[in-house]
Amino acid sequence: MMYIKDQVKKLTPYKPGKTVDEVKKELGLSEIIKLASNENPFGCSEKVGQELTAHAMNYAIYPDGGGSVLRQALTEFYQLPGEQFILGNGSDEIIQIISRAMLDSSKNTVMAAPTFPQYKHNAVIEGAKVIEVPLIDGRHDLNKMASAVDQDTAVVWVCSPNNPTGVSISDQDLKHFIEQIPDHVVIVLDEAYFEYVTAADYYDALELIRKYPNLIVTRTFSKAYGLAGFRVGYGIAQPSLIQALEPVREPFNTNALAQLAAAAAIKDQSFIQHCREQNRNGIEKFERFCTEHNLGFFPTQGNFILVHFNKDANVMFEALMRKGIIARSGHALGYPESLRITIGTEEQVNKTLKAIEEIISQ
Ligand SMILES: *Cc1c(COP(=O)(O)O)cnc(C)c1O
Repeated sequence: MMYIKDQVKKLTPYKPGKTVDEVKKELGLSEIIKLASNENPFGCSEKVGQELTAHAMNYAIYPDGGGSVLRQALTEFYQLPGEQFILGNGSDEIIQIISRAMLDSSKNTVMAAPTFPQYKHNAVIEGAKVIEVPLIDGRHDLNKMASAVDQDTAVVWVCSPNNPTGVSISDQDLKHFIEQIPDHVVIVLDEAYFEYVTAADYYDALELIRKYPNLIVTRTFSKAYGLAGFRVGYGIAQPSLIQALEPVREPFNTNALAQLAAAAAIKDQSFIQHCREQNRNGIEKFERFCTEHNLGFFPTQGNFILVHFNKDANVMFEALMRKGIIARSGHALGYPESLRITIGTEEQVNKTLKAIEEIISQ
């Protein structure tokens, strides 16, 4: 019998949701709005397509393993030297690299619950002990998380805005938290939804990176930049932390097209600003609707909202799907009576709210 690690045997593979085509076929619908994976409803900057068609690329050669074009674009955008970035095949891969480099069976790792599931998934594969600290009203309990840290803790994960609740952390709370974390512990600050944040009390992650050598911030091109299909994410930290992780990274982990696409995308900040504004309008519409209809929700800084329906999430999920809208059931997210719904375009938001209204008024 082949050998499989015990902890891997206990895991289940990631289950992707049904594709739009599958749902169309199954329900005989012609139009489907997919609001399940927090993809950008506006697509991506048109600069991306222009850049990709302008470059005749030799597909037979390996990509630039150092990602120099994208690294240069990040350097210009952030005004930070290239050695402060690590590039990943999505920020999922940055999470995997950190876990592989820093976790094993002699270590523990601290995270919120519910939060983005890949932290736990990767920690389990590495055999580390996982310490989960329950959220309070969708918010990280940072004081409890800090007191869960001991001499065996290697990594603490902080997700802001948190997936699946959308709640972000304030400048004051985050600084107070980091001050309490001993410097042998690496703090991972996952900012997959950074570009959408409008909260006035949000922190400046770059200022924190300058101050704390044990902090790494992860960001992605999958959400606001609208490039989920290309798989590009990155970590930002002081050079010493990046250097410690680099040996774990696969030599050609980000592909040639993805590097070009991401470098073009980050140069178009007016597209990002447009998406942020549209997203905020959509959130406000959702929040007004929820308040008017007595539905609970968490105040969100992401491009999604977790709405509490006070009934089985799968029932609500199915009812919405029959109306052509695919949301994410809260069952797998730790909120069995809620749906996580991506904020769509204005038209999609209107259709979604109309569909919800029809369902709950029945
Ligand atoms: C979507 C998401 C990611 C992963 O993004 P990729 O860059 O596509 O791998 C990471 N963290 C959170 C919180 C997310 O929601």
